[in-house]
Amino acid sequence: SRYVAVRHHVEGLPSEDDFEVKAARVRWSPESGEVLVRNLYLSVDPYQLNRMKRRSASHLAVDGIVPGERIDAYGAGEVVASACEEYKEGDVVAGVLGWEDYTLFRPSPGVLMSKLAASDDLPLSHHLSALGTSGMTAYAGLYEVGRPEAGEKVFVSAASGSVGSLVGQFAKLAGCYVVGCAGTNAKVDLMKNKLGFDDAFNYKDEPDMKSALKRSYFPDGIDIYFDNVGGETLEAALANMNTYGRVALCGVISEYTDASHRAVPDLLEVIYKRITIRGFFAWDFLRRFAEFTGVIGDWIRQGKVHVIEDISDGLDSVPSAFAALFSGDNIGKKMVKLA
Ligand code: NDP
Repeated sequence: SRYVAVRHHVEGLPSEDDFEVKAARVRWSPESGEVLVRNLYLSVDPYQLNRMKRRSASHLAVDGIVPGERIDAYGAGEVVASACEEYKEGDVVAGVLGWEDYTLFRPSPGVLMSKLAASDDLPLSHHLSALGTSGMTAYAGLYEVGRPEAGEKVFVSAASGSVGSLVGQFAKLAGCYVVGCAGTNAKVDLMKNKLGFDDAFNYKDEPDMKSALKRSYFPDGIDIYFDNVGGETLEAALANMNTYGRVALCGVISEYTDASHRAVPDLLEVIYKRITIRGFFAWDFLRRFAEFTGVIGDWIRQGKVHVIEDISDGLDSVPSAFAALFSGDNIGKKMVKLA
């Protein structure tokens, strides 16, 4: 068995060289209360970079990652041994596992783990994307924080990504006008021609995004901005918000790799326009996980939501899959499938 670790703390853009794959010692016979899972899919997520920094930028919320040690991560797998009544061999689970072949966990109320129903008819990988934390993030962020109403104008950044692609589609289902931005023309094409966005653009073609939003995409202003990116994208969106607009502050990925990139919003504008900027954390909505993913599952079955996934092969591809998030090489939910 093997696991992926960071060689050292990671600052700036991550690269494959920051990681190593190491041999793991697995306890094949779980002790009382423990469950052993063979991992089938592993998620790579932008927030993990903040945990890899020397002084974890997210120290308020999640634990730092220690060089050389295993890294917990969301995933899906099959129970291969259990000394816990709730789980039996052959059960398929999704929840917090790790960047490793096998994960030993001890179920408790604080551990996010769900047993999937045998009747589950959607692909297992969806439990890492639309039916996992990305789905919960998009749903909670748009509906609970953004509170969209039909006819409102919604702007989404990193909009072809795992969270963004769902936010845009959910906003369309709420009757909104939706524009997304992303970093390649292929992503723009996906949003406009497959995901049903009203419009989309490549932010690399719009160096003055503040003017571009006003001129081409939101001449009547933005009611909801779902921010995945931060930096000047957030500044540009804020400058184009309507009175009583809402900003769902989900992530600021451009700032994860470059702290000098921090947004400098015009707060006077925020005051005059009575804008609500609310940061949120998907985990805050954990008790509604089943409710949210139940709705999303129905939308997928009805063909109302497309799930975009970008799957790499094998544990050795975890480092490149993770680095891809920051070079924009992924389209949709990036994950790794184990043999
Ligand atoms: P994505 O699938 O969106 O992948 C990341 C994407 O971000 C890349 O594909 C790239 O797309 C874009 N990106 C990377 N670097 C930059 C940059 N410097 N400037 C602009 N865009 C960049 O990831 P997720 O959907 O998993 O996550 C999206 C955001 O949501 C992240 O900020 C993440 O931290 C946050 N998040 C927050 C949660 C919460 O609870 N608040 C939970 C889950 C995620 P492009 O080609 O468009 O540049």
